[in-house]
Amino acid sequence: MTKDIATPKRTQEILKKYGFSFKKSLGQNFLIDPNVLHNIVSHADLTEESAAIEIGPGIGALTEHLARKAGHVVAFEIDQRLLPVLEDTLSPYYNVEIIHSDILKVNVSEMMKEKLADYKDVMVVANLPYYVTTPILTKLLMEKLPIRGMIVMMQKEVADRITAKPSTKAYGSLSIAIQYYMKAEIAMMVPKTVFIPQPNVDSAVIKLTRYETAPVSVLDEDFLFFVCRSSFAQRRKTIINNLQSQLPHGKEKKELILAALAEASIDPTRRGETLTIQEFGNLANLLLPNFK
Ligand code: SAM
Repeated sequence: MTKDIATPKRTQEILKKYGFSFKKSLGQNFLIDPNVLHNIVSHADLTEESAAIEIGPGIGALTEHLARKAGHVVAFEIDQRLLPVLEDTLSPYYNVEIIHSDILKVNVSEMMKEKLADYKDVMVVANLPYYVTTPILTKLLMEKLPIRGMIVMMQKEVADRITAKPSTKAYGSLSIAIQYYMKAEIAMMVPKTVFIPQPNVDSAVIKLTRYETAPVSVLDEDFLFFVCRSSFAQRRKTIINNLQSQLPHGKEKKELILAALAEASIDPTRRGETLTIQEFGNLANLLLPNFK
């Protein structure tokens, strides 16, 4: 096995060799702890029959651990300055493909058809750039990719919101937007000290597992997310008050909102944060004919 990229010493050598300076604007915090990388990759349960998609390989710290386990790795890196570095650091691995792109502009489904058609088992694994964690996750979920799931690192506070359960402080429209598509759980906590440069916040790795069947059958997904955002508009308000002020002509149509809540067996004096995804789904289906 080749020497790990992600030891403090080797990382410093690589950075020095290429005169690399970190861009904060690109969320560049590189991992320098092989044990953490090993643990992240073990949560992905990869075999030679699996493929991995990585976002933001940096100098290849996580990429090489993926390459040792998976049959094929496709990694998207936005920073052109890292391409010659990656060509060098990942030269021992023949199963890695680096694509110079902004992940937010990539059609990942097309890429999977083109490059990963031979792989039935595909995981997204990434130490995400923190400034775009939510847009990246939302984009990947909306694309409804044929993947098994994702193992992704992000700042702890966002991980808490994504994995939150009803009636907790962290539960909100982000929890529902993600948990509607995938089961979400915290896999491990990661301290600041294993990065260079060190971020200001602690991090967590979350495990997302795609549902075989969705937790609730929804007629219009955009409308579901609109109802969720509306219900959380003012967290301390009751669901009826929030819906009245947020739904189009909600004030005049209060009786219709109350009827939908009654049919969904939801007490109108509850707060949005107490509703489960199933309850939001049923409610959105019942409101849809009158409010969209
Ligand atoms: N994977 C490396 C590691 O764990 O050490 C680097 C992770 S670093 C937190 C995030 C990486 O994402 C950086 O290499 C950065 O240049 C890249 N990046 C930032 N925005 C991106 C985008 N929109 N698309 C693709 N890569 C991006």
